[in-house]
Amino acid sequence: MPLENADQVCQEKPVIGVSHCLVGGEVRYDGGSKPVPWIVDILSEHCELIPVCPEVEAGLGVPRPPVQLVGSMERFRALGVEDPKLDVTEPLLKVGADKRDAIADMDGLILKARSPSCGLFDTPVFDVSGVRIGAGAGLFGRACRESFPNLPLIDESSLENEAGRVTFLIQVFRYRCRRLQSHGLLPDDHTV
Ligand code: SF4
Repeated sequence: MPLENADQVCQEKPVIGVSHCLVGGEVRYDGGSKPVPWIVDILSEHCELIPVCPEVEAGLGVPRPPVQLVGSMERFRALGVEDPKLDVTEPLLKVGADKRDAIADMDGLILKARSPSCGLFDTPVFDVSGVRIGAGAGLFGRACRESFPNLPLIDESSLENEAGRVTFLIQVFRYRCRRLQSHGLLPDDHTV
């Protein structure tokens, strides 16, 4: 789109990827969801929300056996909670790689806290004997952060208060402005 259409570009809504279960998708391992009213009712009015469920996109199905992160804090895998022989690490890593092009067209991501796939920093990590040894990012959340270090990334627990919401939205609009400028869709002196 040429620069003369910058006004039209400015009117388009920011694009935010969101864990599908947070917008009511019944995609959790048990077939349930975890909708967040602020995202579903308010944010959706102002932003285009793109639902993403890495476990479903990895072909794991609904319902599916729950998984958890097992290993060390440096190296862990996503293994079945009830059957540790179930290893879904590679399919989840592949989704992280396959989604790169789609995420490159997003202005932010809201992911589900504490998920072995979507978590950003507070997903429990266990050693092979089942003892919790710490917390880290889930496999998809980690892949997103590594591939797009400047992309506004947040989990739903950080959006519970107004300060967190405002801060995230400012980051989203600034990132969108820079992203569109890098594609020549906004003038370089355009600010938000
Ligand atoms: S993988 Fe992510 S989007 Fe899918 S159910 Fe789990 S937390 Fe929700």
